[in-house]
This record gives sequence, C-alpha cells and structure tokens, in this order.
Amino acid sequence: MSSTFMATSWSGSALAPAWLLAVYAVSLQGMVIRRVRANDRDAGMAWILGGALVVGTGMWAASFLSLVAMQLPIKVGYVRDVVLASWLPAIVIAAAAIWMQTHSGLRARMRVMGSVLVAVGLQTLVFVNATSIMLQPAMVWDPKATLAAFLLILLGCGLGSLLIRSNISEEPRQARNLAIAVLVGTVLWSGMALQVSAIGVPWAAICLSEGQLSGDSLEFVLTATVLILLIMAHIGTLQDARNLARNQALSASLKAAQTALEEASLRDAATGLANRAGFELQVRELIEQASDQVLHLSVLRLNIDGFHAFTGTYGHHVGDGLIQTLSLRLQGLIRDGDVLARSDTDEFLLACRGLGDEHVTALLAQRLQDAVHEPCLIHDQEITVSCSIGIARYPDSATPEQLMSHANDAMLTARRAGGGVYCFFERGMDRVSAAQVEMQRDLRHAVARKELALHFQPKLRATTGELAGVEALLRWHHPTRGMVSPAEFIPVAERFGLIGELGQWVIDEACHHLRMWHDLGLDIPVAVNLSVHQLRQPDLEQRVREALRRHRVPARMLIMEITESVAMEDIEASLRVFDMLDQIGVRLSIDDFGTGYSSLSYLRRLPARQLKIDRSFVRDLDSSLDAQAIVEAVVRLAHALGLKVVAEGVETQDQADILAQLHCDELQGFLFARPMSEPTLMKWLGQRGSPIPLASKPMTSDLNEENAREASDLATAWSDLEANRP
Ligand code: C2E
Ligand code: MG
Ligand code: MG
Repeated sequence: MSSTFMATSWSGSALAPAWLLAVYAVSLQGMVIRRVRANDRDAGMAWILGGALVVGTGMWAASFLSLVAMQLPIKVGYVRDVVLASWLPAIVIAAAAIWMQTHSGLRARMRVMGSVLVAVGLQTLVFVNATSIMLQPAMVWDPKATLAAFLLILLGCGLGSLLIRSNISEEPRQARNLAIAVLVGTVLWSGMALQVSAIGVPWAAICLSEGQLSGDSLEFVLTATVLILLIMAHIGTLQDARNLARNQALSASLKAAQTALEEASLRDAATGLANRAGFELQVRELIEQASDQVLHLSVLRLNIDGFHAFTGTYGHHVGDGLIQTLSLRLQGLIRDGDVLARSDTDEFLLACRGLGDEHVTALLAQRLQDAVHEPCLIHDQEITVSCSIGIARYPDSATPEQLMSHANDAMLTARRAGGGVYCFFERGMDRVSAAQVEMQRDLRHAVARKELALHFQPKLRATTGELAGVEALLRWHHPTRGMVSPAEFIPVAERFGLIGELGQWVIDEACHHLRMWHDLGLDIPVAVNLSVHQLRQPDLEQRVREALRRHRVPARMLIMEITESVAMEDIEASLRVFDMLDQIGVRLSIDDFGTGYSSLSYLRRLPARQLKIDRSFVRDLDSSLDAQAIVEAVVRLAHALGLKVVAEGVETQDQADILAQLHCDELQGFLFARPMSEPTLMKWLGQRGSPIPLASKPMTSDLNEENAREASDLATAWSDLEANRP
C-alpha cells in the first residue's frame, strides 16, 4: 500500500484465534462428513444442517477475526447488523461444501465448480465483513492482493475437497485428519488474511461506526463462544460415532444371536444333524433350485424298530448312545450333498439326489439297514437293532409335503410288516391290503421254516426229445394259504426288500440239487430266475461263486434267466452283471423274450447263450400265421447271434411240431411236464426212460459233436472239482 493509506499492523490475539477456528472448522467438516455417511438419510440430513451451522460459524468467525486482527491507527467499530448478516451466507457456504463432500457420485467438473463457488463465497465473506467498518472516505482494495487472496482461498477449497474426501473413505485416522485440517485451515486462513491485507484505508479516513461492536474483549468473546460451539459439535460427532458403533455392534450381535437361534431351531441338539424342520427346508430348497432341471430325489425315512421298548429296558442313556452311534454310521454312508436329519427320537431322514434308478435306491436302503443292524457297543452292552425304511421319490411324490408323508406311509407299511425291511411308496399304499403286509411277514420266516421249495420243469431238445435241463421255479407252501404262486409273492418280496435273501436261497438250493443229482449219476443243468434286485447286488458274482464252491458244482451247470424287460431296463448294469457271470462260466438266458421290445443292437452286446420265447407267442402258434412268422424271425435272429432258442409254455403237440419245424432248439411246457417237486422229477425221469444226460459220461449215442464236446468238458470240470475236494 502506498503512503496515501494508513499504516496497518496485525494483532496476534485475533490472528491466532482466527487460525485456530479455521483449522478446527475444517477438522470438524471432516468429522461431520463421516457422520453424514455413517448415518441413515434423515440423520444424515440433520448432520449436514447441524454441521453447516457449526463449520459455517467457525469460518465466519475466522474471517471476521482476520479482519479484527488488522490494526489501524484510528479507533474502529464494526456495524453489528452487517457482521451478523454475513453469518447466514457462511452457513450456506459450509452446507454446500459438506453436501459436495458427502456425494461421492459427483463428477470432477462439478467438484471444481463447487470449489470455485465456495472460494468466491469465503472471499465475499471477508468483503462483507470489511464493509462493517464504515469509513469516510471508504476503504479501497488492492486488486493484485485480492486476486492472490482468491487463488489462495481457492487452493484451500480444492485441497479440502480432495484431501477430506480421501480421508473419509478409509478408516478415520486422527493424525491424518489433523494434518489435513492444519494444512487446509492454514491455507484458507492465509487467503482470508491476505484478503484483509488488500484493504487500504485513506489517511484522512474517520470511522463512522466507531460506537458499534468494538473493544479489546471482542476477539476473546467471539473466539470463546465459537470455540465452545465447535467443541460441543466435536463432542457430538464423537458421541454419535460411539453410539453408532455401539448400535452396530448390538445389532450385529442381535443378528448373530438370531441366526444362531434360527440354526438351533433347525438342528437336533443330540446329534448335530438337521431336525425335521431343517430337513424339510433343505428338501424344499433342492426342489426349488432344480425347478428347471430334471431332479431325481429319494427321501428315506428310517425308523429304529422297537426303540421305545428298548429304552424302557436299557434306560435312556443307552438309547441316546445308540442314536449317536447310528448317526455317525449313517453319516459315513452318505455322499456330499445328501441331507441326513434326525426327525424324531427314533427316526432319521435322508434325502439323496441323483438316484434316478429305483434299484440304486434299494441298494442304498439295504446298506443303511446293514449299517444299523451291525452290533453297537454302548456302555459295555452289545446291542443289535434293526430299522424300517420307507422310501418316497421325487418327482413321483411332487412336493416336500408329499415326499414326507409318502415316505412315512411306506415306513409304516415296512413297520407293519414286522420291521427290518425297506419299502417303496406306492399309490394307495395307505390302503395296502393287510393281506400283503401279512404275506410279507410270513415270507420273512419262510426260509427258516422250510416252507420254500424249488420245483423243476424240464426243458427238452426239440429234435431228440432228450432232457436238456430244468428250470427251477420257486414254490411257497404256506401253512394256511396253501401253495402261493411266485407271481404273487415275488413282487411282495421285491417291494419289501426280501428278494435278495430269497434269490440267494434259490441259487444255493439249485446248486445243492445239482450236486445231489451228480452224486446220483445225473448231470441236469438247472436254470434259475434272477430278479431285477439281484441284478443290482454288487456282490452277486461273489454269492454265485460261493454257492458253486460250497456245493462243488461247475459253473456251466447253472443257467441264469433274466427277463428281457429287466435286462433292457438298465442295459449297462445288465452288461456288467452278464459279463461278470459269463466270466465265471455261468450261462445266461433271456427270459420272456418278445415282451421287452429289445433293440437288436442291445441284444448283440449281451453275452447271453439262450433266448426263451415268451409263452404268449407260443400260445397262438397253431392258430396264427403272424405268431409263426414272429417265432421264425426270432429263431433266425437268435441263431444269427449264436443263441439257443427255448420255447416256453408249449401245451399242444401241434405247437411242439411247429416249433421243431421252425428250428427251435428246446421246448418247455405243460405238454411235456409241469413244474415238479424234486422227487416227482426223479420219478418222471425214471418213467420216461428217454435219454437223459448221465453224469461224467459223454452220451455219444445220440449226441451231436458239439454236445459230445460239451459233455466231455463238463466231465473234466466235475472231476477237477472232485480232485480239489477238501
Ligand atoms: P418264468 O421264468 O417265465 O417261468 C415260467 C412260468 O410259466 C412258470 O410259472 C411255469 O409254471 C409257467 N409255465 C410253464 N409251462 C407252461 C405252460 O405250458 N403253460 C402255462 N400256462 N404256463 C407254463 P410260475 O412257476 O408260476 O412262475 C412265474 C414266474 O415267477 C416265472 O416266470 C418267473 O419269472 C418267476 N419266478 C419263479 N421262480 C422264481 C425265482 O426263484 N426267482 C425269481 N426272481 N423269479 C421266479
Ligand atoms: Mg424263467
Ligand atoms: Mg418265462
């Protein structure tokens, strides 16, 4: 300033508080922005307004104190109304700055414009405050210093915008917050002081507002008041942060408690498995997730037989121990993604995905039953229990509710049947005749009570009439029902999981007869029927081998019949079993051919030796040319594939003649003999007097070359077995 202006000096007692307030206001701005972001919309808005009030007041006081710091040789006063009027714009400016900082989505250009506006606002604040000193003549402003001051204030605003924002996105760091506040506050304060220094007061000037706001204590009162306000706001931000953190911790722990409670309500405390509600939820999720895909799901309901009576005898602690042991065993059997639950004191539930094939589910049920049936050592007591399993399958049972209730119906049926069995749900199961359940119960004891027997029906060579072998057909002599047909009890055995045991008995009994007849000097090949469940037994080969070994019978004396429909149902499984049995030398026959709609290519893949034409074609032979054409085609096809053809159900001589003309290899039917008990068969053979295969002697007289070779091989096999006799 040139000498036409009064000399000015600076008062430290005003300049220092101005700096302090500027720094504090900037620091508070950072804290307020953090509060706005941490709180919800309404509380955030309150923080913007409250923050703007405090920060704006701080900056306003800083700007006013910068002006007060300017000392003139004359006594000055400040027009109160003007000073107060500048307070409101200060708050608006602060509100704009805070709003800008809390909106992270703003574009850079908007931020620059915002900073410029805030800078203009702050500089205007100094101008307005300066007009509160009414001078005559009026003060003048140095444009260069004004421009420099603006640039400095703008720099402060820009730095504030950048640095404060960079600090709020991270965990608040107090030292950094303070450093930013000192830097930005100092730049802004310097800008405002520089602006004040741009004021020129003419020499002859007198102050018209001398009597207004003035006095030595002005800066002290103002600083103290504003400082208190800032400190209160500071405490407010700290308190809010603490409250919020506490609320958040509280709500987090509440949520955790709620989750734990929810989880506990879906879990069985004793085993740690899901409970019934948890199980149903997971099954529902599985079904919902797979709504657009093909989902195969089996739900197995496993009830420990007689558990309540058992705990009554041994006590609840033993009962609990048993459940724990069984739970671990069952867990060892399930795959990832399966759901195991304990749904009741004595009940487990299992949901298995991907079991599209009923037989695989049956195998699993059998494995579960075996696992449960293994003895458990609990509190030094060896305990053996059994279980009843009910099985329902999705999508046959289409909703979680249906799956649960159908599995329950099936389980109840299994339990009514005496327990220790599994049972698939079938429509109308709830109405399953008591007779069937009863039949199943009796069937379970049939082997032990020696009520089962094998009857044998001869098969004769079509050309010579000699005996080619017999088919073993199962008979059940029920004490009250009389003779029960296999057509009646085999499906019951299959449904209740008894067919494995029954089938094993048949194989064993057939081998027993083979050995007995051989010892009597007769070698008659025996065909046994295999059920679909046996086909799926993983240890079928082992069982057959074992039976052959036990009775010292060469494998080729045994033929296994599998109905065409069963063989074709799961061609891969059939192939595996056929290959396995073929390798040990057991011959395979496809039963009831013509009813299963086989594809020729599949037939070619099966290592079968024999094909049995179904009775229905044979029945119509003497009346229908179509039937003849079909049989002729089947014979040709079978021969082309190297299979022998057996015709079943031959009842008339005409049928037998036609079949012989069509080059059928063997005939079986009531015309020759009905299925007979073993003694009757022996009598029948004796009465017939026709050539029968004699043990260990090739029957050269009327055998063709191939038969002779076979017979001689067989003789070697028998004598090998004899030689290896223990
Ligand atoms: P399959 O294997 O086709 O047995 C032939 C059935 O036809 C037998 O009925 C036999 O008595 C009957 N049959 C034989 N010749 C004639 C005839 O000239 N006319 C008429 N009308 N019927 C004749 P069965 O013994 O009642 O057996 C029925 C089915 O039960 C069998 O059909 C077989 O699939 C099954 N089966 C029998 N024993 C067993 C067994 O030990 N295990 C398994 N899994 N199934 C068996
Ligand atoms: Mg058969
Ligand atoms: Mg048949």
